[in-house]
Amino acid sequence: MAERHLSSAGRTLEERVNMSRVQIEKVMTYLGVENPAPVIKQGRLWQRTPVNYQLDHDKIARLSAQREAEWREIQEFVGTDECLMAFLRRALDDPETEPCGHCANCLGEAVVPESYDHQLGVQAAAFLRWSSPSNACTTLIT
Ligand SMILES: [Zn+2]
Repeated sequence: MAERHLSSAGRTLEERVNMSRVQIEKVMTYLGVENPAPVIKQGRLWQRTPVNYQLDHDKIARLSAQREAEWREIQEFVGTDECLMAFLRRALDDPETEPCGHCANCLGEAVVPESYDHQLGVQAAAFLRWSSPSNACTTLIT
């Protein structure tokens, strides 16, 4: 399989930006759906367009703030002593927030085993690693 290189010096994009191929593919996919798109995918290869792309700093700040708020909410969920289902329902604006009686907090004990077989964990990690769609990516930019 022939690889195309971005620079005239023959260095791959991975070498130039010190990112993995998977990370680069995510960036290229993001840029490819921007309007107007600074890159387009032709076949398996990404190519530049004449668009002078400018980052939308306001959008980045808005999304970062949203992600930080979501992360704080997850931290609250993990640390709460109240019914987990009631917590989720309230987070989703459900007016009914009665305790469920079935979650770990309602029962006062774990509802699934807190330990697992190490070999089973290794097998699960390997399965997830190789079943990821991003592992099928072999695209480089031209
Ligand atoms: Zn509950």
